[in-house]
Amino acid sequence: MSKFGCTCGNVISDVQCPNDVTGWLLSDKSSEEFFSAISDTIDAYLQHLADGDADGWRRKHFNNVYPSDLSGGSMIHDVLTGLFFDRTLKTMECDRCGRLWIQDKPDGNEYHPYSPDCDADARTKMLGYNTAHGDMKPD
Ligand SMILES: [Zn+2]
Repeated sequence: MSKFGCTCGNVISDVQCPNDVTGWLLSDKSSEEFFSAISDTIDAYLQHLADGDADGWRRKHFNNVYPSDLSGGSMIHDVLTGLFFDRTLKTMECDRCGRLWIQDKPDGNEYHPYSPDCDADARTKMLGYNTAHGDMKPD
């Protein structure tokens, strides 16, 4: 997806990557599964590495087309990215009306709108400000 038409008439574009108009929704249950998968994936990779079978770990997760010269960190990143997308719903925030569009299921093409109760003058943009440390605010 690169452009999405909001019901207010605005076009939400995620052509720029990364951006502050799209994000991901992760339930408590799914986040627990995902965070457990992080340690399980790293532990399994380290065990294969200790056993001298890093290629076996790579073959377990990737097909023959996958590059064989990537670092362990890059391969773990790719495995975890897939696990993340399997458990999250993509969200898009209209920067005109504040409506959130939430994917109906992972990998789904349908989105459901959720409108803020407050008026457009009172609402604040949500995506892009969701960091606990405040050092990742959008430009
Ligand atoms: Zn809108």
